[in-house]
Amino acid sequence: MGHALGGLAAYLATRGGRKDWALLIASLASALLPDLDFLIGPFAGRSYHHYFTHSLGFAALFFGVAYVLLCRIQRAAPWRDAWVMTGAYLSHIILDLLAKDTSPPFGVQLLWPLSDAFFISPVAVFTDIWRGSLALLFGLHNWTAVGWEVLVLSPLVGLLWWLGRLRAQLE
Ligand SMILES: [Zn+2]
Repeated sequence: MGHALGGLAAYLATRGGRKDWALLIASLASALLPDLDFLIGPFAGRSYHHYFTHSLGFAALFFGVAYVLLCRIQRAAPWRDAWVMTGAYLSHIILDLLAKDTSPPFGVQLLWPLSDAFFISPVAVFTDIWRGSLALLFGLHNWTAVGWEVLVLSPLVGLLWWLGRLRAQLE
């Protein structure tokens, strides 16, 4: 939930006043994409969450791939669209940096491939999501966690939306 709101915030902050549903959906998908690293886990025989897909290096790679794909489908402004999608991708990494992490390694592999070190904010703004079982997944802790994410991120999304409207009116 937090990641979808982060993607929405990034889209609103970087799209430049235009409404673009395809780009919005691509931005939301980009904001969720880093967590696909958990799919590597079953193959590697261990948990693979918050690894190299949560890095600035991978975000740069993502920008390149997005740019090439956007050129392929002949979008009018592939450079700008790739930047919007990369902003959404980066918002995921920032939110994970700010979230509580209860299982080692703590944080995200921010500087991969330059460094394998994990980074995390000394102050956790968001709490973790409990997985484990369905009861935990839909338990009170997670509802509180998601409620807090919405509470913190909604004003940001609202502000960015309002600024975008203002800008559109001025143009
Ligand atoms: Zn993540």
